[in-house]
Amino acid sequence: MSTPHQYRITPKDPGAHIFEIALTVARPDPSGQVFSIAAWVPGSYMIRDLARHVVSIRAEADGQEIGLTKIDKSSWQADACDVAITLTAEIFAYDLNVRGAHLDTTHGFFDGACVFPAVVGQEDLACELEILQPDGRAGSDWRVVTSMRAIDAPRYGFGRFAAEDYAELIDHPVEMGDIQIGEFEAGGIPHVIAVRGHVHFDIARICHDLSTLCSYHLKLMGTPKGFDRYVFLLYVQEDAYGGLEHRWSSSLACSRRDLPQRGESGVSARYRKFLGLCSHEYFHLWNVKRMSPEKFTPHDLLAEVHTGLLWVFEGITSYYDHLALVRSGLVTTTSYLEHLGRAITRLTRNRGRFRQTLEESSFNAWTHFYQQNPNSSNAIVSYYTKGSLVALALDLTIRKDTDGKASLDDVMHECWSRYGESAEGMPERGIESVARAVSGLELADFFERFVRGTTDLPLQGLLKEVGVNLHMRPASNGNDLGGKPGAKNGAPAPWIGAELADSAGKSTFGVVHSGSPAEKAGIAPGDVAVALDNLRLGADTIDIRLREHHVGDTVTISVFRDEHLMKFQVKLAAPPEDTCYLELQSDPDARIKKMRDAWLKGA
Ligand SMILES: [Zn+2]
Repeated sequence: MSTPHQYRITPKDPGAHIFEIALTVARPDPSGQVFSIAAWVPGSYMIRDLARHVVSIRAEADGQEIGLTKIDKSSWQADACDVAITLTAEIFAYDLNVRGAHLDTTHGFFDGACVFPAVVGQEDLACELEILQPDGRAGSDWRVVTSMRAIDAPRYGFGRFAAEDYAELIDHPVEMGDIQIGEFEAGGIPHVIAVRGHVHFDIARICHDLSTLCSYHLKLMGTPKGFDRYVFLLYVQEDAYGGLEHRWSSSLACSRRDLPQRGESGVSARYRKFLGLCSHEYFHLWNVKRMSPEKFTPHDLLAEVHTGLLWVFEGITSYYDHLALVRSGLVTTTSYLEHLGRAITRLTRNRGRFRQTLEESSFNAWTHFYQQNPNSSNAIVSYYTKGSLVALALDLTIRKDTDGKASLDDVMHECWSRYGESAEGMPERGIESVARAVSGLELADFFERFVRGTTDLPLQGLLKEVGVNLHMRPASNGNDLGGKPGAKNGAPAPWIGAELADSAGKSTFGVVHSGSPAEKAGIAPGDVAVALDNLRLGADTIDIRLREHHVGDTVTISVFRDEHLMKFQVKLAAPPEDTCYLELQSDPDARIKKMRDAWLKGA
């Protein structure tokens, strides 16, 4: 049996944010071992060139330094050598993010892709990792939380860990510091939530709710082979939101206001969003981590990997994240419909849905979704939002056309049994062939129009079939996210079609919608608002200013573009009906009620 690669990580200088990594390779490539650091982090589809954070790197063999040559932006080659090589690197870690590495005197966190070099050509070999405590005062009372299997470490302590191969080594993020820990079971499997950040909240309630949620997912999808533990690593800040999926854990960030306080009952929109985030990352342990696109098997971490399927892995996950909340009883049907209404509102306001298909959105994630510009809302569509609504439309279409005999649940079960835990992964049209096979429906037209085309989804008709009425109305004001009937008092303000937001003491135009009065008049993203008809205009006053006029009036909007004062004649339009809310039909017939229960209760 081959000797595992020996990795060691030391929080070497927390004050200077430096991790030191040592890697010993027992049998290096005799013609000159190549080492590389990932250009991107699995699950986050953007080139980040993580090797740029390497501060120093050297190699030695038999206690002697040997040559190490940089051969491209991410890789180094050691001199030819036929004994064990130890590579030592210092890495600057100051990217506080769910997919980054961060070290200071209060804590350390890393995603393995950011810090561990790969031994090129020997990625399949087992790896052992030693996590050392920092020297000095920082870290004396730190705990360590990771889903990596411990081989010699106390529970929540520093020590030695093991992974089957490099892919697994970088799939267990590690948090170290002053951490609150909650433990619970789901499906008989131990789960942990580890929370960092000074925060008071009801951890017992969160453990209870997550247990309900994880149990639901395990029942829906079945327990994967070897799934014997799970860790939610949560970092709480004043204002944060995000998550990254792993096979045995997830790394999450949220706002302290998202978490329930002791004694608080009910589920606020913020707590629903937090539970939705946990649910999303947990569903990924099947959908993308153990069942992934064929193009991702194995991952090439040095360059972009393009697939038209991200909507399946992110969009369908975004559909099930909140659906699981209502099906498991954590949120009410009304709360779930509010969430869906908000998603439909986001898609309706996104004019880019007519310009980019869902498949193109997936394929171009690297350069478009992850690198947006001020025109993105007019030019691209989100494979999360549209993907989740295509999943809803597909689910309801299958339910309707099979008279309730099949659903998206069956499609996901069949995808899992065909492509889950397989070495091959899902081919580019895999979901389509499975959906056809499971439902017995043709569906070619569905995928052509809604995945490879830009036709709007027929959600109103589909929702009606499950006893839900879809209503559209104009936005009440600039903060109206949809999901609710909206204010009844008075007509909505006339519309210019440009968003205004405050930052750094200025009100600046952001998105200027395609074909809107603001675009026709010449207002551009980045223009700083000054006045409307000579009265001060800002994000706080735009609604008031616009309400002083009528649809069809022409007003003068003054802005600064750089240092130039510019004036535009803007003809006010009627606001579009781009805001959605959903209502349960009060008295559906028995067939519709049965369909609705099957959908929302998973019955
Ligand atoms: Zn996701």
